[in-house]
Amino acid sequence: MFPKRYERQIIIPGFGEKTQEKLSRASVVILGLGGLGSVVSTYLTAAGIGYMRLIDRDKVEESNLNRQILYDEKDIGEWKAKIAEKKLKSMNSRIEIEGLREEINDSNIYDLIDDVNLVIDCLDNFETRFIVNKAVVDLEKPMIHGACRGFSGQVTTIIPRKTPCLKCVFRGNIYGKDKSIIGTTAGVIGLIEATEAIKYVTKIGNLLAGTMLVYDARDLVFEKIEIERDPECEVCR
Ligand SMILES: [Zn+2]
Repeated sequence: MFPKRYERQIIIPGFGEKTQEKLSRASVVILGLGGLGSVVSTYLTAAGIGYMRLIDRDKVEESNLNRQILYDEKDIGEWKAKIAEKKLKSMNSRIEIEGLREEINDSNIYDLIDDVNLVIDCLDNFETRFIVNKAVVDLEKPMIHGACRGFSGQVTTIIPRKTPCLKCVFRGNIYGKDKSIIGTTAGVIGLIEATEAIKYVTKIGNLLAGTMLVYDARDLVFEKIEIERDPECEVCR
């Protein structure tokens, strides 16, 4: 019997306690606790995911606060992983949450993701994304990719060796030195990632597998673009 806090989702036709059970057994790792990670971790906490591992290397800075909704002014100077763990635990005490202050590299990434069901990319740079991409392909671990800048963003779900990996689609850092972002863009992209995560673990609906959802807030347009595996891909061929 689940607590009342999940009542409104359990009554969705086709959802039920069985689906809530799937959520409560699922484990995810959230890579990056910035604008995307704040939203993804908050909504997965509210939805009742079983276990979340939260990875971030940084402290909270004032310039984060337009979008990183997990943090308050008084958190400036504190480690994001520590603050996030504390806040999310107070939101939902039933969830097992582990916040780790780690800088992702090509050796520690394997241990960080190996024992969870799903990897969620909430990173802020493509250099680290490509390290993670190689590891998820090697371990055949599904990953939800999200990225955003300014007023636009994108999401896709990678099922290694079935769908394109990140390297099939992107050669390098698509954003250059651009660090611009309006908080609502990170919110929208983060929420789509969280939705994909819920769909993945509950097996409800159709994933963005082999499809890149591209968001343009200026014209309020969502476009779905078919993406294909690169037979020459250096990572997943
Ligand atoms: Zn590839």
